[in-house]
Amino acid sequence: MLFVANWKMYGSASQLLAYCERLLPQLEQCPHTVVLCPPYPLLAQAVMLCAGSGAAVGAQNCHWAREGAFTGEVSPFLLAETGASWVIVGHSERRQLFGESDDTAAARAQAAQEAGLNVVFCVGETLAQRQAGETFAVLEKQTALLGKLDPERLVVAYEPVWAIGTGHNATPEQVAEAHAFILGRLEGLTGQGVPVLYGGSVKPQNAGELLSTPGVAGALVGGASLDAASFYAIMQAAPATGAKG
Ligand code: PEP
Repeated sequence: MLFVANWKMYGSASQLLAYCERLLPQLEQCPHTVVLCPPYPLLAQAVMLCAGSGAAVGAQNCHWAREGAFTGEVSPFLLAETGASWVIVGHSERRQLFGESDDTAAARAQAAQEAGLNVVFCVGETLAQRQAGETFAVLEKQTALLGKLDPERLVVAYEPVWAIGTGHNATPEQVAEAHAFILGRLEGLTGQGVPVLYGGSVKPQNAGELLSTPGVAGALVGGASLDAASFYAIMQAAPATGAKG
């Protein structure tokens, strides 16, 4: 399974060091793929700390251009130069707080892949959309442009907005239904299977149930990933797959 730690705008250099000292030795025995996504200024340090370990490093967003007059933005090509190999794109906090759209998310993802990065593309409905019975229509729209991406370097994260950072995770039934829809949709768009992660208030206490749900290939973890012990406990709750991945 794949486990992605989204640190959001939390953390510091000293916290990253202590975290890696605690987490990385444990990954030697771990059958899963692990990606740490700290804030941009910590990426190079994270790459250094993770070298030779089982963990890869990712960013939390990127721009769609190689370079340009885009103050405050970060090129995916520069991210790749740091040694990062992954990037999260289209996170609901980017969509809701910073006005990102399906179009710009897809453009960022495409540029990221051109830079050689693997993409975690986030989708998910708001509570109002779910209550209005629009969940599948929203997921269909949010995934509409993913056929342009290389499926070999694409992972989709189903993150219902109402479950992110709220402590209220989706039920296994809701997850199974959404994942089945996304898997079918991606198969239709790309002609092959694409892993789908669940994200939204995953913690050690609910990870076993969520990760055993059909169609779940791992987790995108926010709050609980800031603590090495709880992030590792989430991985340990995963059903054994026998193989790395
Ligand atoms: C996230 O940031 O993608 C996320 C799922 O956050 P949390 O685990 O805190 O809900």
